[in-house]
Amino acid sequence: MFTKDIDTIIIGGGLSGMYAAWLLSKKKRSFVVLEARERTGGRILSFDHHGFFPDLGPSWYWPEINPKMMHLIQTLGLTGYQQFETGMGRFENFNGFVQTVRGYSTSPASWRPTGGMAALITKLSQTIPHAAIKLNSPVCEIEKKQNGVQVSVGELEKEPQAQFRAGKVILALPPRLAAATILFTPDLSRDLTQAMLKMGTWMAGQAKFFALYEEPYWRQAGLSGQAFSQRGPLGEIHDGSNKDSGPYGLTGFFNIPAAQRNRDQSLTKAILVQLSAIYGNPAAQPINFYYQDWAREKFTATQFDQPLMREHPVYQPPAGQTAIWDGIIQFAGSETASQYGGYLEGALVSAERAVMQSS
Ligand SMILES: Cc1cc2nc3c(=O)[nH]c(=O)nc-3n(C[C@H](O)[C@H](O)[C@H](O)COP(=O)(O)OP(=O)(O)OC[C@H]3O[C@@H](n4cnc5c(N)ncnc54)[C@H](O)[C@@H]3O)c2cc1C
Repeated sequence: MFTKDIDTIIIGGGLSGMYAAWLLSKKKRSFVVLEARERTGGRILSFDHHGFFPDLGPSWYWPEINPKMMHLIQTLGLTGYQQFETGMGRFENFNGFVQTVRGYSTSPASWRPTGGMAALITKLSQTIPHAAIKLNSPVCEIEKKQNGVQVSVGELEKEPQAQFRAGKVILALPPRLAAATILFTPDLSRDLTQAMLKMGTWMAGQAKFFALYEEPYWRQAGLSGQAFSQRGPLGEIHDGSNKDSGPYGLTGFFNIPAAQRNRDQSLTKAILVQLSAIYGNPAAQPINFYYQDWAREKFTATQFDQPLMREHPVYQPPAGQTAIWDGIIQFAGSETASQYGGYLEGALVSAERAVMQSS
């Protein structure tokens, strides 16, 4: 199948790709978004619990330092609320000894969008022509042709599921994932390929849990919900409740690597035991429990992402290049942003750059 007369093919329907699509549709440019998964959003993932949307991917934005996120949230008619941080914190040491410690407020303040982070993607989708978003479309090959590019969807070595031609491509996925899973013809330079592979995808090796409760037991005990543990499996926990009412939630990240999470079939039980050690027995009985291991997601993580990344890398366009093949392919995706790389804000920064440079 060939789709003709497209200006731009956007590869990846995460925030960066969807925002690029939104910017192109405002410019009345023709495009398709090729998204490998059966849903848009990428690392943004929220489930619907009776109208409350626990985030299993990103949940925070920082209004004081995220101008593009703020602008987008406001433009799309969304609102947010500040992370709950009132009360004391908890700390669990290597031996499982738990003590109450002084709580702290993050600075700059962290906010959560009402309706979960997925509300951003839902709203963006509503502004983009439905037919332009092609789900279940994993790109496996990009070939330079005389007047642009040909992009193949499907699996390498098999008959392509679909092929698209366009003048430009916006590569809106983590560069490491692109280098590891997409064939480029002609070859990319060795330096560029290495730079792409070495650029770790932020949080790709992490997992996130979300436990929901009818009552905020921890708040009633004077705790903020914030906790840190040296013991694990959880390393960092926060209050993840709805704005002014229930459900109330505890959510957070792990301090054990993906390989250990994969082996441990009783991980949920271990999490609940740890939550009850930190917050008391009621924490072991949530009304709902969600878990997402991003390291197992083939459209987010590669083998190089399996170890936990402890520090936030300094991101920049790979090998200093914002584009490939004289500008035919533009890099987008948060990990290619030189400001706020790895974060949602970086996804927007890189998409704006890609759209501007491909116009
Ligand atoms: C657990 C977790 C917590 C986080 N917390 C925060 C937070 O609180 N605040 C914050 O700012 N950031 C946070 N982040 C980071 C944030 O999620 C990312 O910066 C942002 O979502 C990146 O968007 P993106 O569009 O650049 O990439 P992605 O969201 O990764 O989108 C890439 C898209 O490309 C698709 N794709 C992959 N391969 C192919 C292919 N071959 N063909 C077609 N499509 C393909 C994927 O399915 C995906 O939809 C967190 C991330 C995680 C995982």
